[in-house]
Amino acid sequence: MRKFFAVTAAAVTALGGISLMSAPASAETFITIGTGGQTGVYYQVGGAICKLVNRGTKDHDIKCTHTTGGSVKNINGIRAGDLDMGVAQSDWQYHAYNGTAPKQFPDGKFEELRAVFSVHPEPFTVLARKDSGIKTFEDLKGKRVNVGNPGSGQRGTMEVVMEKMGWTMDDFALASELKSSEQAAALCDNKVDAIVFTVGHPNGSIKEATTSCDAVLVNVNNDVIKKLVEDNAFYAMATIPGGMYNGTDEDVETFGVGATFVSSTRTDPEVVYQIVKAVFDDIERFKKMHPAFANLDTKRMITNNLSAPLHEGAARYYKEKGMM
Ligand code: GLU
Repeated sequence: MRKFFAVTAAAVTALGGISLMSAPASAETFITIGTGGQTGVYYQVGGAICKLVNRGTKDHDIKCTHTTGGSVKNINGIRAGDLDMGVAQSDWQYHAYNGTAPKQFPDGKFEELRAVFSVHPEPFTVLARKDSGIKTFEDLKGKRVNVGNPGSGQRGTMEVVMEKMGWTMDDFALASELKSSEQAAALCDNKVDAIVFTVGHPNGSIKEATTSCDAVLVNVNNDVIKKLVEDNAFYAMATIPGGMYNGTDEDVETFGVGATFVSSTRTDPEVVYQIVKAVFDDIERFKKMHPAFANLDTKRMITNNLSAPLHEGAARYYKEKGMM
C-alpha cells in the first residue's frame, strides 16, 4: 500500500525567488491486487473489485489497480509487501498459512496471511486436442502437456496431482511452462497436445481454444483423484457443465478448488473494510460482472474455502451487517 499526497489545492507562489506550496489537502491510498492472466477469471475478479472501489474514491480516497500473476505469486507478493491483496486458490491459501508447501512458500508458515472472502469455484481443467487421442487423464502420459508457469496455482496443483499419479515431468514428451494467456494459441498451433488450467468457468482461455480448433475437455476423476479429494478438505469433486464450450456436450467430472481473495495483517483494516464494503454493498452488480460470479452467495463467500483467519477489516464489515 502506497500513500501519495494529492496536492489538490496547490498554490505555488513565487515571491522574490522563494516558492511556497500549500499543505496537501488529502492523502490517497493506492492498493494493488494480484490476479492472473488476462484470459482467466482472476483478472476479471481484480478488475471488478477495482471498478467498484474506484467508483467511491472521492469518499474513501482509495485507488485500486490490479496486476497479473497467479495464486502462488500473489501470496508471495503479499508477503513481500509488493501487493496489498490478491486472488488465490483455496489449496494454496491453506498451504501458505500452514507452511505445508515448502517448494511454493520457502519462507515457511505465512501466519500474517488473512482471508477476505471466497469467490467462484475453480475446476482442475484439462483440455486436449481432438487429434491427440487423449480421452482420459491417464492418457496425458507420453504427450506434450502445458503444465503451467511456475507461480501459477494450476502449476502447483498439477505437481500435487502428478506426485499422486507417480509421474514426473519426464513422463511427458514435452512439459511446457507457458502462461495461461499463451496456452490456447499453443494448443491450436499444435505445439502441445493438452493444457491444464485450474480456473472458473466460463473463461476466455478455454473459449479461445475451443472456438479456434477442435479440442475436448477431459474427465479427471480416477481413484487417485477421488482419494486426494477425500484426504484434503480444500479439494472437492466438480463438474464442468456440458454445452458450455464447443466440442464438449457432456458434463465433465473433475476435482477443484475455490478462488479466494486474501490479504495480510500488514494491509490497513480500514482499507480492507472499504474494499469489502465496495463489493458487498453492490454485490448484485459484482455478480453481473462475469458469468463465473453468477452463483455467488454472500453467506458462502464469507465461510467457504477460507483457511487463514478473516482479516480484521473484513470481519468488521461482516459483523456490522449481521452476517457473522
Ligand atoms: N487458478 C489460477 C492460478 O491460481 C488462475 C486462474 C485464473 O486466472 O482465473 O494461477
